Amino acid sequence: MNLQIKELMQKGGIVGNGGAGFPAYAKLAEGADTMLINASECEPLLETDYIILREQMSRVLEGAALVMEAADIPRTLLCLKKHNAERLGLSDGEELAPRIYVKELPDVYPIGDEVAMIYQATGRIVRPGNLPITKGVIVYNVETLYNVALAVKEGKPVTEKWLTIGGDVEKTLVVRAPIGMRVRDLFAMHGIVVPEGYSVIDGGPSMGKVIHYRTATVQTTTKGLLILPDYIPAVAGKGGDMKTQISRASSMCCQCTRCTDMCPRNLLGYPLYPHLMVRTAASVVEVTPEMILSASLCCSCGVCETAACCQGISPRNVILEYKSILGKNRMKFVGNEDVTPDEYRDSRMIPITRWKGLLGVLPYDREGIYNPVPVKATVVELGMGQHIGAPSVPCVAVGDTVKVGDLVANAGAGLSVPTYASINGRVTYVDDKKIILEA
Ligand code: SF4
Ligand code: SF4
Repeated sequence: MNLQIKELMQKGGIVGNGGAGFPAYAKLAEGADTMLINASECEPLLETDYIILREQMSRVLEGAALVMEAADIPRTLLCLKKHNAERLGLSDGEELAPRIYVKELPDVYPIGDEVAMIYQATGRIVRPGNLPITKGVIVYNVETLYNVALAVKEGKPVTEKWLTIGGDVEKTLVVRAPIGMRVRDLFAMHGIVVPEGYSVIDGGPSMGKVIHYRTATVQTTTKGLLILPDYIPAVAGKGGDMKTQISRASSMCCQCTRCTDMCPRNLLGYPLYPHLMVRTAASVVEVTPEMILSASLCCSCGVCETAACCQGISPRNVILEYKSILGKNRMKFVGNEDVTPDEYRDSRMIPITRWKGLLGVLPYDREGIYNPVPVKATVVELGMGQHIGAPSVPCVAVGDTVKVGDLVANAGAGLSVPTYASINGRVTYVDDKKIILEA
């Protein structure tokens, strides 16, 4: 293991650029024979990964080569959907750099789920609840590797975020915004007004979260900000309080099992049965700990709620409730045996155009336009807990002057990364949760 590269990845404040923000350095482990670059851009309407590849392919490959060197990984596959490979003029199997090859993925949903992508690209299935490294695989997102190249080669820490501004807007834009920028400022700068009856989603329409855009900020994990009408399934499915949803699930489920038949994790052979989870909500059978434990195997793709259930029930939300109970008790399902995919898996994957139609986002599906001029902010709020692990610990005081890239918070103890100033300015607020900088 090249510890110097690993150390520079931590020092650079690099975390996974989607999902939960897992510190990238901590994923580096010996024993991998394959690295996958996740450029699957599984979520509709997002153009972020595609634009990064189009504009910064050499930096992404440079970052990949550094990780390969650090962990002695012999081969890397750049995993992207067929339609994006075509737009970039890439073909399946093409060697882009020494030992880095293109791997085309089918245009189906959900293929960006780590477990699904590993199976699709390598034919290996990670045992339920285990880490990809147990099957000799490490997965990094495109932007993470771009950030690795900047941190290791140029000593630049992470201070900005590539993201798509899309949905019901005139143009779909891909911009680079300072981390911590207020979403309302970003919208105002681009002339975007969120109409009455619309919501803003941080992330994609399938798995993203509705945010209060007047107070929200750009996070290290923000891949997109979508302005969408409340009535479409992509937004309506995220509403309602959990108690109502669970009582709806317990009173209306006919136990048709369609949610389980279509569940992508179940189709890979994982012991996850959403129809049984819904049944436990009704308390009509005795709940076994194993039944609840398997909730940790759900990847929250939403297929069960958007494509499977004809009763308007969201097994995903029932499972999310169980997952939060498991999380609080630090419990998760860990399988000790290999699993095999269902023979009908391939035919049950959902074509991406159909998925967009089910979510109601087809009218907003547009080619992204890249603005190469980095967005400037006058105020940023840097959260200390934007990553999994210990929060960063502020090392500046009110009144200090900082420049872009200056350290403002050290990594906490254990798993953690530091935080850096994303604008030139003055520190106007500090506590253990956030630092505010004003230009
Ligand atoms: S959200 Fe539903 S379909 Fe997706 S993995 Fe979880 S249970 Fe399966
Ligand atoms: S698809 Fe809906 S009705 Fe059928 S078992 Fe699942 S939750 Fe129940």
